Amino acid sequence: MTAARSLKAADDLVSAGLIEPEKLASIRAVADRYAIALTPTLVSLIDRTDRQDPIARQFVPDPAELLTTPEEHADPIGDQVHSPVKGIVHRYPDRVLLKAVHICPVYCRFCFRREMVGPQGDGTLAPDELSAALAYIREHAEIWEVILTGGDPLVLSPRRLAAIMRGLAEIPHVKIVRFHTRVPVVEPDRIDAAMIAALKESGKVVYIALHANHPREMTDAARAACARLVDAGFPMVSQTVLLRGVNDDPTVLGDLMKCFVETRIKPYYLHHPDLAPGTGHFRLDIAEGQRIVSALRGNISGLCQPTYVLDIPGGHGKAVIGESAVRGDGDGGCYSVSDFRGEEHAYPPK
Ligand code: SF4
Repeated sequence: MTAARSLKAADDLVSAGLIEPEKLASIRAVADRYAIALTPTLVSLIDRTDRQDPIARQFVPDPAELLTTPEEHADPIGDQVHSPVKGIVHRYPDRVLLKAVHICPVYCRFCFRREMVGPQGDGTLAPDELSAALAYIREHAEIWEVILTGGDPLVLSPRRLAAIMRGLAEIPHVKIVRFHTRVPVVEPDRIDAAMIAALKESGKVVYIALHANHPREMTDAARAACARLVDAGFPMVSQTVLLRGVNDDPTVLGDLMKCFVETRIKPYYLHHPDLAPGTGHFRLDIAEGQRIVSALRGNISGLCQPTYVLDIPGGHGKAVIGESAVRGDGDGGCYSVSDFRGEEHAYPPK
Protein backbone atom coordinates (compact mmCIF):
# COMPACT_ATOMS: atom_id res chain seq x y z
CA MET A 1 0.00 0.00 0.00
CA THR A 2 1.34 3.49 -0.86
CA ALA A 3 0.30 6.36 1.39
CA ALA A 4 -1.10 9.46 -0.32
CA ARG A 5 0.07 11.76 2.43
CA SER A 6 2.73 11.77 5.11
CA LEU A 7 2.04 9.54 8.10
CA LYS A 8 2.39 11.52 11.33
CA ALA A 9 0.51 9.66 14.07
CA ALA A 10 0.76 6.26 15.72
CA ASP A 11 -2.74 5.40 14.51
CA ASP A 12 -1.72 6.23 10.90
CA LEU A 13 1.09 3.71 11.19
CA VAL A 14 -1.25 0.98 12.39
CA SER A 15 -3.67 1.74 9.55
CA ALA A 16 -0.80 1.56 7.05
CA GLY A 17 0.28 -1.83 8.43
CA LEU A 18 3.63 -0.48 9.62
CA ILE A 19 3.18 -1.34 13.29
CA GLU A 20 1.23 -4.12 14.93
CA PRO A 21 -1.99 -3.00 16.69
CA GLU A 22 -0.72 -4.44 20.00
CA LYS A 23 2.14 -1.91 19.95
CA LEU A 24 -0.20 1.06 19.53
CA ALA A 25 -0.17 2.20 23.18
CA SER A 26 3.62 2.22 23.42
CA ILE A 27 3.98 3.93 20.03
CA ARG A 28 1.50 6.59 21.15
CA ALA A 29 3.78 7.15 24.16
CA VAL A 30 6.75 7.54 21.79
CA ALA A 31 4.72 9.97 19.66
CA ASP A 32 3.96 12.07 22.74
CA ARG A 33 7.68 12.64 23.13
CA TYR A 34 9.21 12.59 19.64
CA ALA A 35 7.85 13.71 16.28
CA ILE A 36 6.81 11.18 13.64
CA ALA A 37 6.61 11.70 9.87
CA LEU A 38 7.05 9.38 6.91
CA THR A 39 6.52 10.75 3.41
CA PRO A 40 4.64 8.66 0.81
CA THR A 41 7.96 8.12 -0.99
CA LEU A 42 9.49 6.56 2.11
CA VAL A 43 6.45 4.48 2.92
CA SER A 44 6.61 3.00 -0.57
CA LEU A 45 10.21 1.91 0.10
CA ILE A 46 9.37 -0.12 3.20
CA ASP A 47 9.20 -3.88 2.83
CA ARG A 48 6.42 -4.87 5.24
CA THR A 49 7.35 -8.54 4.98
CA ASP A 50 10.80 -7.83 6.44
CA ARG A 51 10.68 -7.27 10.19
CA GLN A 52 14.29 -6.02 10.00
CA ASP A 53 13.65 -3.64 7.11
CA PRO A 54 16.40 -0.97 7.24
CA ILE A 55 14.12 1.79 5.94
CA ALA A 56 11.40 1.04 8.50
CA ARG A 57 14.01 0.88 11.24
CA GLN A 58 15.09 4.45 10.49
CA PHE A 59 11.62 6.00 10.42
CA VAL A 60 8.98 3.80 12.08
CA PRO A 61 8.96 4.49 15.84
CA ASP A 62 9.95 1.71 18.21
CA PRO A 63 9.00 1.19 21.87
CA ALA A 64 12.77 1.04 22.57
CA GLU A 65 12.76 4.83 22.20
CA LEU A 66 11.07 5.07 25.58
CA LEU A 67 14.28 3.85 27.21
CA THR A 68 16.71 6.66 28.01
CA THR A 69 20.11 5.74 29.41
CA PRO A 70 22.15 7.90 31.83
CA GLU A 71 24.79 8.84 29.23
CA GLU A 72 22.19 10.14 26.78
CA HIS A 73 21.54 13.87 26.57
CA ALA A 74 18.81 16.09 25.11
CA ASP A 75 21.49 18.20 23.38
CA PRO A 76 24.10 15.51 22.66
CA ILE A 77 26.46 17.59 20.51
CA GLY A 78 26.18 20.75 22.59
CA ASP A 79 24.42 23.14 20.18
CA GLN A 80 23.08 25.30 22.98
CA VAL A 81 26.41 26.22 24.57
CA HIS A 82 27.57 27.59 21.21
CA SER A 83 24.41 29.50 20.32
CA PRO A 84 25.00 33.26 20.66
CA VAL A 85 21.62 34.16 19.13
CA LYS A 86 18.57 32.08 18.32
CA GLY A 87 19.10 29.96 15.20
CA ILE A 88 22.91 30.30 15.15
CA VAL A 89 25.43 27.73 16.38
CA HIS A 90 29.01 29.08 16.25
CA ARG A 91 31.19 26.15 17.27
CA TYR A 92 34.17 26.53 14.89
CA PRO A 93 35.90 29.79 13.96
CA ASP A 94 35.13 29.99 10.24
CA ARG A 95 31.61 28.65 10.02
CA VAL A 96 28.18 28.75 11.66
CA LEU A 97 25.05 26.68 11.56
CA LEU A 98 21.95 28.65 10.61
CA LYS A 99 18.95 26.71 11.89
CA ALA A 100 16.14 28.59 10.18
CA VAL A 101 13.60 25.83 10.59
CA HIS A 102 13.14 22.90 12.97
CA ILE A 103 10.69 20.98 10.83
CA CYS A 104 11.65 17.95 8.70
CA PRO A 105 9.71 16.07 6.03
CA VAL A 106 10.57 12.87 7.91
CA TYR A 107 11.68 12.30 11.49
CA CYS A 108 14.60 9.92 11.87
CA ARG A 109 14.28 7.77 14.98
CA PHE A 110 17.98 8.29 15.81
CA CYS A 111 17.98 12.08 15.28
CA PHE A 112 20.57 13.90 17.38
CA ARG A 113 18.28 16.96 17.53
CA ARG A 114 15.12 14.99 18.30
CA GLU A 115 14.37 17.18 21.32
CA MET A 116 14.44 20.32 19.12
CA VAL A 117 12.79 19.26 15.84
CA GLY A 118 9.16 18.54 15.07
CA PRO A 119 5.86 20.36 15.48
CA GLN A 120 6.54 20.80 19.22
CA GLY A 121 10.17 21.75 18.67
CA ASP A 122 11.83 25.11 18.16
CA GLY A 123 9.71 25.97 15.08
CA THR A 124 10.77 28.35 12.31
CA LEU A 125 12.71 31.55 12.98
CA ALA A 126 10.38 34.55 13.06
CA PRO A 127 11.37 37.43 10.71
CA ASP A 128 13.02 39.44 13.53
CA GLU A 129 14.88 36.33 14.74
CA LEU A 130 16.13 35.65 11.22
CA SER A 131 17.26 39.28 10.94
CA ALA A 132 19.16 38.95 14.23
CA ALA A 133 20.81 35.72 13.02
CA LEU A 134 21.87 37.37 9.75
CA ALA A 135 23.13 40.40 11.71
CA TYR A 136 25.31 38.09 13.80
CA ILE A 137 26.82 36.61 10.63
CA ARG A 138 27.34 40.10 9.19
CA GLU A 139 29.13 41.26 12.35
CA HIS A 140 31.56 38.32 12.38
CA ALA A 141 33.96 38.72 9.49
CA GLU A 142 35.61 35.38 10.28
CA ILE A 143 32.51 33.48 9.12
CA TRP A 144 33.40 32.05 5.71
CA GLU A 145 30.73 29.35 5.51
CA VAL A 146 27.08 29.25 6.56
CA ILE A 147 25.53 25.80 6.98
CA LEU A 148 21.75 25.65 6.79
CA THR A 149 20.61 22.68 8.79
CA GLY A 150 17.84 21.97 11.10
CA GLY A 151 15.42 20.73 10.77
CA ASP A 152 15.61 20.36 7.02
CA PRO A 153 16.09 23.72 5.29
CA LEU A 154 14.63 22.44 2.01
CA VAL A 155 11.18 22.18 3.60
CA LEU A 156 11.10 25.98 3.35
CA SER A 157 9.17 27.35 0.41
CA PRO A 158 11.32 28.67 -2.45
CA ARG A 159 10.07 32.16 -1.54
CA ARG A 160 11.34 31.94 2.04
CA LEU A 161 14.52 30.23 1.00
CA ALA A 162 15.21 32.93 -1.58
CA ALA A 163 14.73 35.61 1.09
CA ILE A 164 17.39 33.96 3.29
CA MET A 165 19.74 33.61 0.34
CA ARG A 166 19.29 37.30 -0.53
CA GLY A 167 20.19 38.12 3.08
CA LEU A 168 23.38 36.07 2.78
CA ALA A 169 24.16 37.67 -0.60
CA GLU A 170 24.67 40.98 1.21
CA ILE A 171 27.44 39.58 3.44
CA PRO A 172 30.67 39.64 1.42
CA HIS A 173 32.79 37.54 3.81
CA VAL A 174 30.39 34.58 3.45
CA LYS A 175 31.73 32.65 0.50
CA ILE A 176 30.10 29.25 0.92
CA VAL A 177 26.51 28.27 1.77
CA ARG A 178 25.96 24.62 2.60
CA PHE A 179 22.62 22.83 2.98
CA HIS A 180 22.12 19.61 4.91
CA THR A 181 19.03 17.84 3.69
CA ARG A 182 17.13 14.62 3.23
CA VAL A 183 14.62 16.13 0.78
CA PRO A 184 16.08 14.75 -2.49
CA VAL A 185 15.56 11.23 -1.08
CA VAL A 186 12.31 11.56 0.87
CA GLU A 187 10.47 14.15 -1.23
CA PRO A 188 12.35 14.30 -4.53
CA ASP A 189 9.67 16.30 -6.38
CA ARG A 190 10.44 19.30 -4.16
CA ILE A 191 13.68 19.72 -6.08
CA ASP A 192 12.11 21.65 -8.92
CA ALA A 193 12.98 24.73 -10.95
CA ALA A 194 11.63 27.11 -8.27
CA MET A 195 13.73 25.46 -5.54
CA ILE A 196 16.84 25.56 -7.70
CA ALA A 197 16.27 29.22 -8.54
CA ALA A 198 15.94 29.98 -4.81
CA LEU A 199 19.20 28.16 -4.07
CA LYS A 200 20.95 30.31 -6.68
CA GLU A 201 19.59 33.55 -5.25
CA SER A 202 22.65 34.37 -3.11
CA GLY A 203 25.15 34.13 -5.95
CA LYS A 204 27.44 32.28 -3.49
CA VAL A 205 28.98 28.86 -3.95
CA VAL A 206 26.32 26.44 -2.70
CA TYR A 207 27.07 22.90 -1.55
CA ILE A 208 24.36 20.35 -0.83
CA ALA A 209 25.05 17.63 1.75
CA LEU A 210 22.63 14.73 1.29
CA HIS A 211 21.73 12.63 4.34
CA ALA A 212 21.09 8.98 3.38
CA ASN A 213 21.90 5.79 5.25
CA HIS A 214 20.98 2.82 3.09
CA PRO A 215 21.46 2.12 -0.64
CA ARG A 216 17.71 1.49 -1.07
CA GLU A 217 17.11 5.17 -0.33
CA MET A 218 18.94 6.03 -3.55
CA THR A 219 15.98 5.36 -5.83
CA ASP A 220 15.78 6.48 -9.44
CA ALA A 221 13.70 9.47 -8.31
CA ALA A 222 16.26 10.39 -5.63
CA ARG A 223 19.11 10.10 -8.13
CA ALA A 224 17.20 12.25 -10.60
CA ALA A 225 16.59 14.92 -7.94
CA CYS A 226 20.32 14.92 -7.12
CA ALA A 227 21.14 15.14 -10.82
CA ARG A 228 18.97 18.27 -11.07
CA LEU A 229 20.98 19.83 -8.26
CA VAL A 230 24.38 18.83 -9.62
CA ASP A 231 23.43 19.88 -13.16
CA ALA A 232 22.39 23.25 -11.75
CA GLY A 233 25.94 23.72 -10.50
CA PHE A 234 25.69 22.65 -6.84
CA PRO A 235 28.45 20.24 -5.76
CA MET A 236 27.07 17.49 -3.54
CA VAL A 237 28.58 15.63 -0.60
CA SER A 238 27.05 12.94 1.59
CA GLN A 239 26.46 12.42 5.27
CA THR A 240 25.53 9.07 6.72
CA VAL A 241 24.95 7.88 10.28
CA LEU A 242 26.40 4.47 11.11
CA LEU A 243 23.39 2.65 12.56
CA ARG A 244 22.90 -0.77 14.11
CA GLY A 245 20.51 -2.78 11.94
CA VAL A 246 20.63 -0.31 9.04
CA ASN A 247 24.13 -0.07 7.60
CA ASP A 248 26.45 -1.73 10.15
CA ASP A 249 27.82 -3.99 7.44
CA PRO A 250 30.72 -3.23 5.09
CA THR A 251 28.83 -4.51 2.04
CA VAL A 252 25.77 -2.35 2.70
CA LEU A 253 27.87 0.67 3.59
CA GLY A 254 30.12 0.16 0.57
CA ASP A 255 27.10 -0.13 -1.74
CA LEU A 256 25.72 3.11 -0.31
CA MET A 257 29.01 4.93 -0.91
CA LYS A 258 29.10 3.61 -4.48
CA CYS A 259 25.53 4.85 -5.02
CA PHE A 260 26.64 8.29 -3.89
CA VAL A 261 29.64 8.38 -6.22
CA GLU A 262 27.53 7.10 -9.15
CA THR A 263 25.16 10.01 -8.41
CA ARG A 264 28.07 12.52 -8.45
CA ILE A 265 27.96 12.89 -4.67
CA LYS A 266 31.32 12.74 -2.90
CA PRO A 267 31.10 10.69 0.33
CA TYR A 268 31.93 13.08 3.15
CA TYR A 269 30.95 12.25 6.72
CA LEU A 270 30.12 8.90 8.30
CA HIS A 271 28.85 9.84 11.75
CA HIS A 272 29.16 7.62 14.77
CA PRO A 273 25.66 7.72 16.32
CA ASP A 274 25.21 10.47 18.91
CA LEU A 275 24.05 9.97 22.48
CA ALA A 276 20.52 11.21 21.78
CA PRO A 277 17.75 10.11 24.15
CA GLY A 278 16.09 6.79 23.38
CA THR A 279 18.53 5.80 20.62
CA GLY A 280 20.60 3.12 22.35
CA HIS A 281 19.21 0.43 20.05
CA PHE A 282 20.96 2.15 17.11
CA ARG A 283 24.38 2.52 18.67
CA LEU A 284 27.41 0.32 18.19
CA ASP A 285 30.84 0.28 19.74
CA ILE A 286 33.49 2.57 18.24
CA ALA A 287 35.81 -0.43 17.70
CA GLU A 288 33.06 -2.15 15.70
CA GLY A 289 32.58 1.00 13.65
CA GLN A 290 36.31 1.18 12.99
CA ARG A 291 36.32 -2.42 11.75
CA ILE A 292 33.44 -1.71 9.37
CA VAL A 293 35.07 1.43 8.01
CA SER A 294 38.48 -0.26 7.69
CA ALA A 295 36.84 -3.00 5.60
CA LEU A 296 36.00 -0.39 2.96
CA ARG A 297 39.65 0.60 2.55
CA GLY A 298 41.19 -0.95 -0.54
CA ASN A 299 38.08 -2.97 -1.32
CA ILE A 300 36.18 -0.12 -2.91
CA SER A 301 37.43 2.94 -4.77
CA GLY A 302 39.14 5.74 -2.90
CA LEU A 303 36.35 7.99 -4.19
CA CYS A 304 33.94 5.98 -2.02
CA GLN A 305 35.72 6.47 1.33
CA PRO A 306 33.87 8.62 3.89
CA THR A 307 35.52 10.19 6.93
CA TYR A 308 34.36 8.44 10.11
CA VAL A 309 33.67 11.08 12.77
CA LEU A 310 32.31 11.45 16.25
CA ASP A 311 30.79 14.61 17.71
CA ILE A 312 32.29 14.93 21.15
CA PRO A 313 29.49 15.37 23.72
CA GLY A 314 29.28 18.81 25.29
CA GLY A 315 29.89 20.76 22.08
CA HIS A 316 33.62 20.10 21.68
CA GLY A 317 33.29 19.47 17.95
CA LYS A 318 34.08 16.58 15.65
CA ALA A 319 36.92 14.09 16.01
CA VAL A 320 38.05 11.77 13.22
CA ILE A 321 37.86 8.27 14.70
CA GLY A 322 38.80 5.88 11.89
CA GLU A 323 41.58 3.40 12.63
CA SER A 324 45.01 4.73 11.80
CA ALA A 325 47.03 2.62 9.34
CA VAL A 326 50.23 3.80 11.05
CA ARG A 327 51.62 2.35 14.30
CA GLY A 328 54.66 3.34 16.31
CA ASP A 329 56.21 6.80 16.64
CA GLY A 330 59.13 6.33 14.26
CA ASP A 331 61.48 7.22 17.09
CA GLY A 332 64.86 5.64 16.34
CA GLY A 333 63.22 2.93 14.30
CA CYS A 334 60.41 2.49 11.86
CA TYR A 335 56.73 3.08 11.60
CA SER A 336 54.56 0.09 10.91
CA VAL A 337 51.96 0.66 8.20
CA SER A 338 49.10 -1.78 7.61
CA ASP A 339 47.81 -2.40 4.11
CA PHE A 340 44.15 -3.00 3.25
CA ARG A 341 44.60 -6.78 3.84
CA GLY A 342 45.80 -6.08 7.39
CA GLU A 343 49.44 -6.99 6.66
CA GLU A 344 52.06 -4.82 8.35
CA HIS A 345 54.97 -3.12 6.54
CA ALA A 346 57.90 -1.14 7.89
CA TYR A 347 58.28 2.48 6.83
CA PRO A 348 61.31 4.64 7.72
CA PRO A 349 60.92 7.73 9.92
CA LYS A 350 62.05 10.04 7.09
S1 SF4 B 1 16.28 14.94 8.82
FE1 SF4 B 1 18.02 15.48 10.18
S2 SF4 B 1 17.18 16.94 11.67
FE2 SF4 B 1 15.43 15.92 10.67
S3 SF4 B 1 14.91 14.17 11.97
FE3 SF4 B 1 16.37 13.39 10.43
S4 SF4 B 1 18.40 13.60 11.39
FE4 SF4 B 1 16.96 14.90 12.56
